Amino acid sequence: VSRVDALVARPARRVPLLRSARRPASGVAILSCMDGRLNVFSIFGLAEGDAHVIRNAGGCATGDAIRSLALSQELGTREVVLLHHEHCAAVADPDEDLARCLGVLRTASGLPYTGAIRGFVYELGAGLREGG
Ligand SMILES: [Zn+2]
Repeated sequence: VSRVDALVARPARRVPLLRSARRPASGVAILSCMDGRLNVFSIFGLAEGDAHVIRNAGGCATGDAIRSLALSQELGTREVVLLHHEHCAAVADPDEDLARCLGVLRTASGLPYTGAIRGFVYELGAGLREGG
């Protein structure tokens, strides 16, 4: 049995894909590190349909992340949350990288809405601290 087969066979809460609007109810897109310890839905109290969540190593403002954020904004989001965290395998200094990524996003020519982009660092002990 492959690990994927084991995952698919797990008892799970499979919520039907919403047929309602593609625009997330919160109007927010979240770019987060892919770290499996970060439960973005729990951290922000989200349910299905509430936000676009884009993930990569570090939660970094890469070209592909910007492409996804641009589509998110085309679908109706107007604010962006950038989520980094302590003890990240992808970035050595989360605060420094958060500031760098915020700068990249706020000046990204491919993003129509750059006026409300905020960054946070998730800390051990479940703290959420605004940075950048
Ligand atoms: Zn990470």
